[in-house]
Amino acid sequence: MTEAWRPEDDEPRGASGPVRVRVPAKINLHLGVGPLRGDGYHELNTVYHAISIHDELTARRGDTLTLTMEGEGTGELALDESNLVIRAARALASSVGVPPHARLHLRKQIPLAGGLAGGSADAAAALVACDALWGTGLSRDELAEIAAGLGSDVPFLIHGGTALGTGRGEAVSPVLARPTIWHWVVAVADGGLSTPVAYRELDRLRAAGAAGPPLGSTDTLLAALRQRDPRVLAAALGNDLQDAALALRPSLAATLKAGEAAGALAGIVSGSGPTCVFLATGAADAERIATELDALDVCRQARTAHGPVAGARIG
Ligand code: ATP
Repeated sequence: MTEAWRPEDDEPRGASGPVRVRVPAKINLHLGVGPLRGDGYHELNTVYHAISIHDELTARRGDTLTLTMEGEGTGELALDESNLVIRAARALASSVGVPPHARLHLRKQIPLAGGLAGGSADAAAALVACDALWGTGLSRDELAEIAAGLGSDVPFLIHGGTALGTGRGEAVSPVLARPTIWHWVVAVADGGLSTPVAYRELDRLRAAGAAGPPLGSTDTLLAALRQRDPRVLAAALGNDLQDAALALRPSLAATLKAGEAAGALAGIVSGSGPTCVFLATGAADAERIATELDALDVCRQARTAHGPVAGARIG
């Protein structure tokens, strides 16, 4: 992609001080799951939406590649070669031919295995941070190409905003609508749900004729976004994985019911769950619904968020 690194290039290139990157969580406004493909992935038809819950990755110069962390998942999440931050740093280094040397520190607010793509977000943050630290100067599209090899949601988290995802989700194109800020309540559950397990459960439910009809095209959702009316958007939200998440975690039905009883316009499971997200009419309404949910025993924590927000960015 770029010229190979040479030792004499090392010092003048890249950032001398720490590089701090903020990266958002994602929800899916529409998650249409098509048939299982030969490569083991499902064909997706999705509308991604980046929301204002952020992880932060700081990259400093180092003699080896190391990762430390604080916040959500500390003590649970492995910080070794399996971590998506390390995998992303190595993928960038080998793609551009530089040594993968950095001291990385992750401050995590996105819950683990929550259906908010936290791991993918961290991979996107690592690509952007190491690109700046090493002075490799790749474009966002070049970074998104490396991102696609790390996970289906990673390219979207490089770009952010609201975007259409096709293929296994890695083919991303921005949704061009007049900017509207949508207000959400994010009900974080105790513990996570495994994404592959949720997909397998959907396959099982479909084979047994026990899943709802597939959502299909994103046309209704895209038209709803253009109308800029939260009531219209609420009616268009949908997630084919919701039946699977509810089968695996039946208590989520009570969470969804409580949000709607508290006045949310609609509630859906986010991605493969178990996080549930609720659309509110505005910021004050979202605060009120979050406070009400927090007083009930239906989630670990209810937070407010807005979207769309930018993808992985320095600063
Ligand atoms: P998605 O919505 O993309 O399916 P998710 O939000 O349900 O993902 P993640 O938090 O992205 O789940 O994590 C899924 C798994 O990825 C974790 O259980 C963990 O084993 C692995 N993982 C590797 N690196 C990370 C990371 N930096 N943060 C979170 N999970 C990571």
